[in-house]
Amino acid sequence: MFIQDIRLTNYRNYDSLHLSFEDKVNVIIGENAQGKTNLLESIFVLAMAKSHRTSNDKELIRFQADYGKIEGTLHTKNSNLHLQLAVSKKGKKAKINHLEQQKLSQYIGHMNVVMFAPEDLNLVKGSPQVRRRFLDMELGQIAPVYLYELSQYQKVLTQRNHYLKKMQGDRKIDDTMLDVFTIQLLEHGAKILKKRYEFLYLLQNWAEPIHKGISRGLETLKIQYKPSIHVCENMDLSKIKEVYYEHFQEVKEREKMRGTTLIGPHRDDLAFIVNDRDVQTYGSQGQQRTTALSLKLAEIELIKSEVNEYPILLLDDVLSELDDYRQSHLLNTIQGKVQTFVTTTSVDGIDHETLRQAKSIRVTDGK
Ligand code: ATP
Ligand code: MG
Repeated sequence: MFIQDIRLTNYRNYDSLHLSFEDKVNVIIGENAQGKTNLLESIFVLAMAKSHRTSNDKELIRFQADYGKIEGTLHTKNSNLHLQLAVSKKGKKAKINHLEQQKLSQYIGHMNVVMFAPEDLNLVKGSPQVRRRFLDMELGQIAPVYLYELSQYQKVLTQRNHYLKKMQGDRKIDDTMLDVFTIQLLEHGAKILKKRYEFLYLLQNWAEPIHKGISRGLETLKIQYKPSIHVCENMDLSKIKEVYYEHFQEVKEREKMRGTTLIGPHRDDLAFIVNDRDVQTYGSQGQQRTTALSLKLAEIELIKSEVNEYPILLLDDVLSELDDYRQSHLLNTIQGKVQTFVTTTSVDGIDHETLRQAKSIRVTDGK
């Protein structure tokens, strides 16, 4: 798939912009603070209805404006879609071919993107929250039902935590309502867990050979899910629910004391194991970067295998951070088949052949 053009209105530092793109490589050149990342981000937001760098949508609206809007024309094998996402202080509105979508989960998934930015190193180095966000975003764009489960889970979790807080303050409240929330929570939690296991199994199958390729055959990457309860990936749904139930009984008194839910997908984590060692703890900077890159390249292939089209690749400031071997490995992998957007402050770091075929877009102060 590829995005043919984009229109921005009051988006970040753009007041009004219309740009058309090449279906292969687009290079966005500009000095610092001109709007390169903002432009890439707008493409990401058009696809995911969410930014890769903030969860506060208001930041996307141009200073002093009341709303911001992104529109784009997406070409896929089977159709052309006009996508529109408007952000105002009241919330987000998403339209496909001018028809408003009732739920964002109906909107997300039509346009697939993979973003690779310097902060993706946090995927390996950062907190568990970063890794859960990665899982949720990537899984969400290939499995809309996952997004639905996740939002239901979040809703019950908030209610349950609220109730636990109340119980913390008043020890006389009995467990009846808490038990109702627990059952609802584990229903959604178990489905989320199962989906995550399935997704990671596929991701691992793609990532391992890619990682081997980038590390010149020297490294083996394994992805491990670290659940907050004792489950394993081959358990079926009813078994997972059973295990959740048992764990919830065990932690009940502690949860009442702490006033919060202590187990569940919102507490789980991932580990990336390179040659039998956790790369977060033991990996060099270069190994951590390679791991993040392998995961992103694996995502491209995984999306292709799931939706039968290559996603759009967004590379923010990353080419210059990779050594020559990794840069050419990356470019060879995507060559010709993936619409790619690359930002850079200077074209010096970019391979000549790539540049020759690319469309260059110069950004100065949001223009
Ligand atoms: P760098 O090379 O440093 O990464 P960049 O070209 O990627 O720079 P951007 O991150 O796109 O720069 O930001 C460009 C400018 O947009 C920044 O100066 C920032 O202050 C401004 N900006 C960010 N959010 C908004 C907003 N909501 N309204 C107006 N301007 C904004
Ligand atoms: Mg930038």
